[in-house]
Amino acid sequence: MSFRSIEQLLRRNSKTKISRNIVDRNHDQKEEQLVQSLRELLLASKQLPDKFDDYYVLLRFLKMRGFNILKAKEMFLNMLKWREDCSVDAIANDFKFEEYDAVKRCYPHGFHGVDRFGRPLYIERVGSVDLSKLMQVTTIDRYVKYHISEQEKTISLRYPVCSLVAKKHIASTTAIFDVKGLGLNNFSKSAREMFAEIQKIDSNYYPETLNQLYIINAGTGFRALWKVLKTFMEARTLAKIQVLGTNYLNTVLEAVDPSNLPEFLGGTCTCPTGGCLLQDKGPWTDPEMIRASKEAFGKGQKSFNELAATIACESFTGCQEPSAKQVDSTSRKRRTLGMLFKDDQVGFDTGENILRKQVDEQILEKIRELEHCAAKSGETLQILICKQQELTGHIEQLRKILQ
Ligand SMILES: [Zn+2]
Repeated sequence: MSFRSIEQLLRRNSKTKISRNIVDRNHDQKEEQLVQSLRELLLASKQLPDKFDDYYVLLRFLKMRGFNILKAKEMFLNMLKWREDCSVDAIANDFKFEEYDAVKRCYPHGFHGVDRFGRPLYIERVGSVDLSKLMQVTTIDRYVKYHISEQEKTISLRYPVCSLVAKKHIASTTAIFDVKGLGLNNFSKSAREMFAEIQKIDSNYYPETLNQLYIINAGTGFRALWKVLKTFMEARTLAKIQVLGTNYLNTVLEAVDPSNLPEFLGGTCTCPTGGCLLQDKGPWTDPEMIRASKEAFGKGQKSFNELAATIACESFTGCQEPSAKQVDSTSRKRRTLGMLFKDDQVGFDTGENILRKQVDEQILEKIRELEHCAAKSGETLQILICKQQELTGHIEQLRKILQ
């Protein structure tokens, strides 16, 4: 049977037809199906801890792997293993970064309010980092642990509070890196190691948490360095980064209100006591909001999943926008949760089916590759036959001459 006929057979296969229909359906519906399939796949192998049984968490892994369920599953399981190996829960709960103030003095960075959508805004003045001093007050290992603890805090506190305030699901950060003065010369080996380690952690274990990164005040020195740094980053992450020169303000103000932008970046905020980057300014520091968030997302409730579903219901017609008080109504949670997951049986393909379709697609792709190789080999063979005929002619002529 030729490759072509195998492909035709597979194309006739009803499963393949279903997968073509999925591609034709609207994007969100497809996303929901794929999330549900990944969820079923993980549940079937008992590899989905309650903490991560969340529509948006699974969606992040799928997005990062181009909606390939097998690859998303592998990435998700790697994340679980990393959390186990590095005791991430212990870092989140117990790690004390005593050198916090000293680090902030030589490496100005921090969360500062929200962007216009309501996402946390994170700012780093990378160009002002005093690296030799930084390495005196902390180590790469401790800084990386601090970074992990901050990531955990963002996911467990900053995003939920921002979601409550904005009344929509928020699970990504907008960031601004001021690289004024930064170039290849002042980016040492230890800085490169730290950058690479943090990049690896963020893209492998906290995928899709970056909404947009504005790199501002990029001069020629930074642009040379950027060529090196880009090699550490995933294409999806790179697509979310804008490298801007000194005329960055209008672009940044499209995403951030001036009141949330520090004065030193062209905004209007002048936080007292230590300046804007020491404050961890944002709704997540408001005790009332922390309490509301804990009530909504606290222990004993499978709450992030449920609240996310409640908030997500804004996008469904016939569902009123929830207020903070309404959010913890159990019946409402169940009802809205059902909007996302009620179709477990109705109208949604099982994880096994979706998986089979993806495998079919992958087989088709391999067949096309093989056909391409076969065609190339055929051409090469033809050329070789011609050359052989030419050589035979030459040999005949030589024989005649020698005789
Ligand atoms: Zn400020």
